[in-house]
Amino acid sequence: MPEGWFTVKVQIDSGRCQGHGRCYDIDPEAFGDDAEGYGKVLGDGQVPAGHERATRLAAASCPERAITLAEEA
Ligand code: SF4
Repeated sequence: MPEGWFTVKVQIDSGRCQGHGRCYDIDPEAFGDDAEGYGKVLGDGQVPAGHERATRLAAASCPERAITLAEEA
């Protein structure tokens, strides 16, 4: 099924995040950092249609596997 048929939501498990910063370096539209450099999801975590590729790359690049993507049909 092509991209855009799903709504993708992203979450960060703050218990796993070690603040490496790869997520917000790779995809600053979906991720930001808090005052201590830990990653945080921007907005409500909903990934805009057509933007999933960058968010997936950021999630795959997290060394702590702290980022999860949930697809909703
Ligand atoms: S890449 Fe992973 S460990 Fe690093 S800030 Fe983002 S969520 Fe946290």
